[in-house]
Formats: sequence, structure tokens, C-alpha cells
Amino acid sequence: VLALAPVVGADVTVPATGHSGGVAYANLDYAASAPALTAVADRLAGALAEYASVHRGAGHLSQVTTARYEQARETVRTFVGGRADDTVVFTRNTTDSINLAASIVPGDVVVLDIEHHANLLPWTRTGRARIVESQSTIDATLAALEDELASAPAALLAVTAASNVTGEVLPLARLAGLAHRHGARILVDAAQLVAHRGVSIASFGIDYLVFSGHKVYAPFGAGVLVGRPDWLDSAPPYLAGGGASADVSIDDVAWHAGAARHEAGSPNVLGAVSIAAAADELRRVGFENIGAHDDVLIRRLDAGLAALPHVRPLRAFDDGLDRVAIASFTVVGHTPRAVAEHLSSRGIGVRDGKFCAHPLLAKLGHPDGAVRASFGVGTTSDDVDRLLNALAELA
Ligand code: PMP
Repeated sequence: VLALAPVVGADVTVPATGHSGGVAYANLDYAASAPALTAVADRLAGALAEYASVHRGAGHLSQVTTARYEQARETVRTFVGGRADDTVVFTRNTTDSINLAASIVPGDVVVLDIEHHANLLPWTRTGRARIVESQSTIDATLAALEDELASAPAALLAVTAASNVTGEVLPLARLAGLAHRHGARILVDAAQLVAHRGVSIASFGIDYLVFSGHKVYAPFGAGVLVGRPDWLDSAPPYLAGGGASADVSIDDVAWHAGAARHEAGSPNVLGAVSIAAAADELRRVGFENIGAHDDVLIRRLDAGLAALPHVRPLRAFDDGLDRVAIASFTVVGHTPRAVAEHLSSRGIGVRDGKFCAHPLLAKLGHPDGAVRASFGVGTTSDDVDRLLNALAELA
């Protein structure tokens, strides 16, 4: 059963979400994982029907599979506006991509305190992370980052593109300019951005960008790191093994340069193909349409929440930043879990907890967590109204 999602100005086919407790299920948890679009599932089914080993065999299917895998790299590079010489490494997910990045960075890393743990713990574990406290406005936060970058040399500024808690979108071009002025590079955790906004590595001045397939309407299990080749080529391979090595004797090994250096072992070709299919489909639908769709939904939600005084939205900054379609909130008198269970009883799926961003939740005064609703191309205004009505019942 398929449903046509009403993305403003363009149709996109999404899998039907089924029923829960006798009512149509409203999945408002796209920020956690966005279910594969029909175009992605179809492309995956085609690739699954004919594949063989990658990079190794001379046979026809091996050639086809290798071509599909390498084409997927090119599609992803174009999708994020990469430079011609950027390397596209396929990984398991955003977390894996940032751990890979942590293994190549030759120096200190400056990080904000609003990050998802995936963009915090790989850096703190290196012992070279310098954490900067976010301020109440983005301008003041940029000034605090500037002070830190000016205080001592840093190799990298690692920053989220959009908060997985509040949906607030950070000014990437300004952040890139700031890092570069102080001789640092910038890595952008785009896990929450790429399903919602077009991004251009080259024109924003981003050095490295990472995201996960399962947040962009592809299945679990594959992610990417896209970025400048030099650090990647001079660092030790992220994984040691076949595929990463060009020449091996018992005493010595010569590692490949390029993406292969960090992709030892048989890669997740089907995951890579799925990410490429999702990129193609999102581009076909168009980010102007997706952004307009997000806008309609988030405005409707914001207006509705403003009329519910017992619901308190979370924001990291006071500036009214642009937001992707994510909203977290608490409900006075109810634990986040109780709210999520109430919503579930009305057929609405949301996330509750601390969203792998414990420092941010603590900073916002909610160490016990909050509730998060997040929308995607399959979300309708009716879904938003159902959420608002169910929250009104908790007054
Ligand atoms: N960064 C952000 C901003 C995220 O929202 C997430 C997923 N919640 C991650 C990183 C980690 O993604 P993954 O679990 O796919 O590695």
C-alpha cells in the first residue's frame, strides 16, 4: 500500500505507515530515522536482484556492482556540492564518519556544547577537544568560538548543521569563514540537514561533511564522509585489511590513497546505492518544495503549541534561527515518557528522552529529557493537528 505524500508543489511516494490502535499511524520521528522512499526501495530492489563482489572480480556482475558503487560516490559528491577532488568515503553512519574524521585530524578540535554525542565523544576521546559554551544568541556564540580559535591553534571546528533537539540551523558559511580565518578547517555534522535543505560544500566553504543514509530516506547501515583528500591520504587507514592495502608482505604494507584507504573489507554497496537513490529522489522533488513543505508544517505546529500554555518548546538560541522540521518540548505535569505514551495511544509516534545530547538537555534545564516531534516528506497537516489535539488533552 502506497501513499502519496503532499509535499508542496511535488509528489513523492512514501510507504504507508499502517495503523496503530485502530487509527492511522502518524510517524513523527523522522529525525531519528526517515523510512525509505519508494524510489529508494525500488532502486535497492533492482540492485539486490543483480549484484556480485565489488572491486575484485572480472565477471560481468562484479563489474556492474563496482560501477554502481563508484557511481554512488559521484552522486553523493554532487548532492552535497562537493569539490571535484573531494574524497567520498562510505561508512556505517554519521557516528562512524566522525570517528573516522577523529582518526585523521592533526591537532586540536573546537566543539560546541550543543552537539549530538556523535559529534562530541569521538573528539573528547582523543583528548584534543576544546569545548566552547554556546551563548544565548548565535552572534555571541560565534564570538565565543572566535575567542577559542584565536587563543591557540586548532586543526578543526566540528559543528552540527542543524540541532537534532531543536531543529535550529546554524550559519554554516559564517562558521566556515570563522574557522578558516584562524587556520582551522570545518567539519559539519549534516545528519539533520541533508533531508531538509540543499547544501553546498564548495560554496559554503565546508571542508568535511558527514551524514547517515537512514536520515535521508535510505535504509540503515551506510553513511558518508565527504571532504578534502590530504588528511585522509596521510592518516593511517581507519580499518586495516583487504581493499585498503595496495601491496602486502609479511613485513610491510603499502596502503591505498583515496576512499579505499579507509574502506577495508567488503563495503556496503547496497547501502551506498540506496543513499545515491535517496539523493536523486530528493533532488527530483526539489529542496524548494521540501523546504516549503517543512515550513507549512512547522509554522502550523508552532502556532498550535503557542496556544497550549502547558507545552514548553525548547530552543538553544534566542535569535529565531531557521529550523528544520524538528520540535522538542516538555509538558508541564507530565514526564516525557508519559507524554510519548499518551501520544502513542492516539496513534502518534514521537521520540522522548535526551536525544543523545545530554549536555544540551542539561543546559536547557531538562536533564530528564523532553519530547521530540519531527516531520518529513510523508507528514501531513492532519498529522500535525492530531499531535496538537492529543497534547491539548494533557492540559
Ligand atoms: N548527529 C546528529 C545531529 C544526529 O541527529 C544523529 C542521529 N540522531 C547523529 C549525529 C548520529 O547518527 P547515526 O546514529 O546515524 O550515526
